[in-house]
Amino acid sequence: MSLKYIDEYRDSDLAKMLVKKIQSVNCKDLRLMEVCGTHTMSIFKHGIRTILPKEITLLSGPGCPVCVTAQKDVDAFVEFARQNNVILTTFGDLIKVPGSGSSLAKEKAEGADVRIVYSVFDAVDIAKQNPDKEVVFCAVGFETTIPTLAATILSAREDGVKNFTIYSANKLTPPALAALMETKGVQIDGFILPGHVSVITGTNAYRGTFEKYNIPSVITGFEPIDILKAILILVQQNATGLPALVNAYPRAVSENGNLKAKTIMNQVFKLCDASWRGIGQIPTSGMELKKEFAAFDAAKKFNMDMPEVSEPAGCACGEILMGLKTPKACKLYKKKCTPMTPVGPCMVSSEGSCAAFYRYS
Ligand code: SF4
Repeated sequence: MSLKYIDEYRDSDLAKMLVKKIQSVNCKDLRLMEVCGTHTMSIFKHGIRTILPKEITLLSGPGCPVCVTAQKDVDAFVEFARQNNVILTTFGDLIKVPGSGSSLAKEKAEGADVRIVYSVFDAVDIAKQNPDKEVVFCAVGFETTIPTLAATILSAREDGVKNFTIYSANKLTPPALAALMETKGVQIDGFILPGHVSVITGTNAYRGTFEKYNIPSVITGFEPIDILKAILILVQQNATGLPALVNAYPRAVSENGNLKAKTIMNQVFKLCDASWRGIGQIPTSGMELKKEFAAFDAAKKFNMDMPEVSEPAGCACGEILMGLKTPKACKLYKKKCTPMTPVGPCMVSSEGSCAAFYRYS
């Protein structure tokens, strides 16, 4: 099945045929995890949950960058916003995420200079336009955005920008999958792996996890046909008992990924341990600035070392991100927690599972 145009990836006849094929596979109860928040939104938007056999449960995973940001990192962003002389720059989704005592939206309302940017390059421009201010960028993202961040820092260094720093809460996908597989109570029968992250990492980045846990894994794109194809492959692999790591997104993903992007990323950043909401500390799952780029490290420049703090009482974001619960199992869902009054990040982010449930179900 070789498709060329975007319409073909939304073709309803093809979708019906794939659903029929999925239904025809004799499968036991299956729990499949879409790792990525963009997949979660696409699955809801196209009603994919509603057309699958009842034996198949789709779980949302730890692939929404705002959702997995640890509470202590949200607190750090708030602390930066409170500093005199700081302009805090951030992507929009982060602004409403509640920290332990405040949020960026609250700080902004109380007079802090918090600005929403659409690219990290905009943050550097703000720094150039405000040489008497310190501009801090909240770096929250995965392999998809880290190379751009690295390129921006290289360019800021070349331009001699001295008042721009980032607070890195960046994360890597494959270590999180391994951490999930090691978590007690987690039951996942297959991973729908993120298309855009894989464009950078390549298929090989998942090989270690796949070989260790022997779990059906399919990289796929974000159109309904992509997602249905991935589900069909996972269902078939489970039925035959023959797990495989499959790249079902070859129009964008290669074995080794984007070597240029990875080179830039590794020029500026190095691996570090990182805290994930709900999951906790995962070894070598983060990226911090290398020593030679310390001048761009907000945590070092401001000597900011935030303590680990507990997550909001009653919020089940952590369990949702590990596939242990769905949003409807959270006692606060649609009661105390709504998109207007979010308690946790999964209700704030446009890729968050709770926001998706609220909007579509
Ligand atoms: S509904 Fe709200 S409180 Fe519950 S898990 Fe989601 S974000 Fe957290």
